[in-house]
Amino acid sequence: MVYRAFNFYAGPATLPTEVLETAQAELLNYKGTGISILEISHRSKEYDAVINDATSLVHEVFGVPEEYKVLWLQGGASTQFYMVPANILLPGKGADFVNTGVWAKKAIKEAKLYGDVNVVASSEDRNFCYIPKDLKFNQDASYVHIASNNTIFGTQWQTYPDTGEVPLVCDMSSDIMSRELDVKKFGMIFAGAQKNMGPAGVTLVIVREDLMERTPEDLPTMMKYKTHADKNSMFNTPSCFAIYISKMVLEWLKSNGGVAGIEARNREKGAMIYDAIDNSNGFYKGHADPDSRSLMNVTFRLPTEELEAQCVQDGLARGLVGLKGHRSVGGMRASIYNAMTVQGVKTLCEFLKEFQESHQ
Ligand SMILES: *Cc1c(COP(=O)(O)O)cnc(C)c1O
Repeated sequence: MVYRAFNFYAGPATLPTEVLETAQAELLNYKGTGISILEISHRSKEYDAVINDATSLVHEVFGVPEEYKVLWLQGGASTQFYMVPANILLPGKGADFVNTGVWAKKAIKEAKLYGDVNVVASSEDRNFCYIPKDLKFNQDASYVHIASNNTIFGTQWQTYPDTGEVPLVCDMSSDIMSRELDVKKFGMIFAGAQKNMGPAGVTLVIVREDLMERTPEDLPTMMKYKTHADKNSMFNTPSCFAIYISKMVLEWLKSNGGVAGIEARNREKGAMIYDAIDNSNGFYKGHADPDSRSLMNVTFRLPTEELEAQCVQDGLARGLVGLKGHRSVGGMRASIYNAMTVQGVKTLCEFLKEFQESHQ
């Protein structure tokens, strides 16, 4: 068997080995065509099946109702930071944001180019270690924007806020399809694929049809959601390969108990590693408040920066890759997305215990 490390990188991130094996096996001769999926026309019937299957799987696996369009766009989640306000921020009406970290801040910056931004709450006072509570939104806002999971700080909304009639727009780049939810509570959901759903290069956008009616006529064609919705995400050449891999990740998800099945596994993994941190007598200290902890990115510190560097290095020697934390938090970060196995987290926990025993 080919050696596969346990990959804890925050993104691009680990993918199911089965998916990579299928991609490898099909790479030179895609389903008898004698050409690679990398070479095939996006107008061919074979590719049409790929993108249609990917879209149907999103509807099926994630429970996306018919009144929402599923789009496969380029430019990453960061492009959605300006595409969302460009399309759905109504004239004279601002948008509400909750500032929970770097990704929310970047979205706020872009939205300001299009209208008034009202930051209703922020957790910046304690370096974004919690999700604000008791929020009050403007009932006449164009929409409310939140980042579901804060990849860098390791916090995650445990339940989504009720925004009444105001559409909720959610950046789910780092926790899409990691837990069950009611898509009807959202006006829009978007996610760069490269953390939980596929490779870099494609962004999943789920948008309620009525919101696309808000788009001003004078927006450039490529910036309008409707352009892509009307053409099945093939107005221009899509990210063919990234969509193909994402489709296989969705198939993998479906055959592993769907979102409910993966959620149970994610909860099991999260409990294992947070228990390891909580039972370390303070050797490991979590960054996030316990009631805001992320099941996707676990951020923690050690007593000194030297120990942190040593721990990252020793982990690497054990086949545990990508554990260095983001510079704005420091310390360590274990990203344990859908495709991270229970065995991977178990191995990490054993390693952390041994490291503590030999260094405290
Ligand atoms: C990684 C990430 C982004 C940025 O995604 P790009 O596809 O690189 O633009 C945005 N939001 C969240 C929550 C992320 O985790």
